[in-house]
Amino acid sequence: MLATSLFRVSLALKGNGASSSRQSLATLYASARNYSSGGDTDLVVIGSGPGGYVASIKAAQLGMKTVCVEKNETLGGTCLNVGCIPSKALLNNSHLYHMAHDKDLEARGIEFDGLRLNLDKMMEVKRNAVKALTGGIAHLFKKNTVTHVPGFGRISGPNEVTVTKSDGSEEKIPTKNILLATGSEVTPFPGIDIDEKTVVSSTGALSLDKVPEKLIVIGAGVIGVELGSVWKRLGSEVTCVEFLGHVGGLGIDMEVAKNFQRSLTKQGIKFKLNTKVMSASRDGSNIKVATEGAKDGKKADLDCDVLLVCIGRRPFTEKLGLDSVGLQLDNRGRVQVNSRFQTTVPSIYAIGDVIQGPMLAHKAEDEGIICVEGMAGGAVHIDYNCVPSVIYTHPEVAWVGKTEEQLKEEGVEYNVGIFPMLANSRAKCNNDTDGLVKILGDKKTDRLLGAHIIGSVAGELINEAALALEYGASCEDIARVCHAHPTVSEAFREANIAASFGKPINF
Ligand SMILES: Cc1cc2nc3c(=O)[nH]c(=O)nc-3n(C[C@H](O)[C@H](O)[C@H](O)COP(=O)(O)OP(=O)(O)OC[C@H]3O[C@@H](n4cnc5c(N)ncnc54)[C@H](O)[C@@H]3O)c2cc1C
Repeated sequence: MLATSLFRVSLALKGNGASSSRQSLATLYASARNYSSGGDTDLVVIGSGPGGYVASIKAAQLGMKTVCVEKNETLGGTCLNVGCIPSKALLNNSHLYHMAHDKDLEARGIEFDGLRLNLDKMMEVKRNAVKALTGGIAHLFKKNTVTHVPGFGRISGPNEVTVTKSDGSEEKIPTKNILLATGSEVTPFPGIDIDEKTVVSSTGALSLDKVPEKLIVIGAGVIGVELGSVWKRLGSEVTCVEFLGHVGGLGIDMEVAKNFQRSLTKQGIKFKLNTKVMSASRDGSNIKVATEGAKDGKKADLDCDVLLVCIGRRPFTEKLGLDSVGLQLDNRGRVQVNSRFQTTVPSIYAIGDVIQGPMLAHKAEDEGIICVEGMAGGAVHIDYNCVPSVIYTHPEVAWVGKTEEQLKEEGVEYNVGIFPMLANSRAKCNNDTDGLVKILGDKKTDRLLGAHIIGSVAGELINEAALALEYGASCEDIARVCHAHPTVSEAFREANIAASFGKPINF
């Protein structure tokens, strides 16, 4: 009862908030029509990744004369060219191959002869997805009257960007505001040279022309396990060497990380946790990787024919002219901004991977939208606790809100509700029962604090949790929402029933 009334209050609050923010947005759009200063550009966005291209479109829709500068041949940044999109294309199709190859289809009554992998074709499908989506941005720019200026953008004053074109010529663009959306680049491993052929970063690992016999992945974070999964499914022997004691990177709930590691191990991926890579050396086509136990100092050498360096990404700020206007970077090389994404120079803003926060495409997009709304006089608010994370392996792993470890650290009392996919009817029909939903609810108020999901469609389910978290729903609120049957999302409901009432129905 308490929870339900809390729900009504939270919805009412959100409803009021929504209608008043609708009103202010309408005013914003009305005033934005007069925003344009006439001759000069209102906004130059440097970078066309998910942060930059979305911000450019939104700014143009708000009436700003907007220019987007991009140094790469295609628009879309890391995400569309060498990140989210190509990796998900390969993850999807390698999973289908794996289902056929590893008798998963046979177990469903689908038998066939003569299965073959056509890696060239799989890569072509990936390239086609990238081409269609990056081309789509060029189309959206035209439709929304965003001017795309190809070339390398550099700040040459608080209100000026200089673009160096491919022929060496320069164009100076005077502008009211500048938005840095220059993203990130692969963090190099000291002493290991990446040639993108046999010693590769994530970029090279998305375009290998043959399946490695033995692949070693340095780093079992999100990108490491995703790309490790792709090549394992296509036939490589894969070993992930990870400094931390768990898989899935920082921010993952430890119970989920353990379950996830078990699933990946069942699929044949090997893990060396609490292990440091010390060096890598070539001997013909063989690469020797020297490792050392992070805790016990035990040394061991590993062999592979392809080495994937996947230890993270760092903000891209090279040759951006930040010094010329006195812009400071923090101790991790990120551009410092205030809550309106404004740097210490009021006309220069920054969003996405180049500033603090999780390096995620949807985080960059959201920041892009609210940053330009803020420039036009709108409210600026983002709750990073409501930004979901997804690992697109099989099963997928997704979470939003707090982990159990964080709640313990913060001294928050919580209830846990768990529902295994094994007891979910749709998962059972689909013969896809690996995983669980784990819900963390506030012990006193029943408010949803965190959702952690392992399952075939965790990346879709997590958006329901993000919505509930954003709207301040209680676990009972979610438990009382009618969910279609049979769906995997019923497992999310059941875990909320378990968190709120102590027991689920179907388990
Ligand atoms: C393999 C891989 C898989 C990933 N998968 C996911 C995923 O599934 N989901 C997810 O949310 N995130 C994923 N990410 C992370 C995601 O790609 C980034 O968080 C996101 O692209 C950041 O967006 P951004 O706009 O800040 O920067 P970016 O996408 O990096 O774009 C920056 C753009 O700025 C351009 N640029 C830089 N400097 C200049 C300059 N001086 N002049 C002109 N142009 C410049 C760059 O060329 C680039 O196009 C993945 C990343 C990788 C590497």
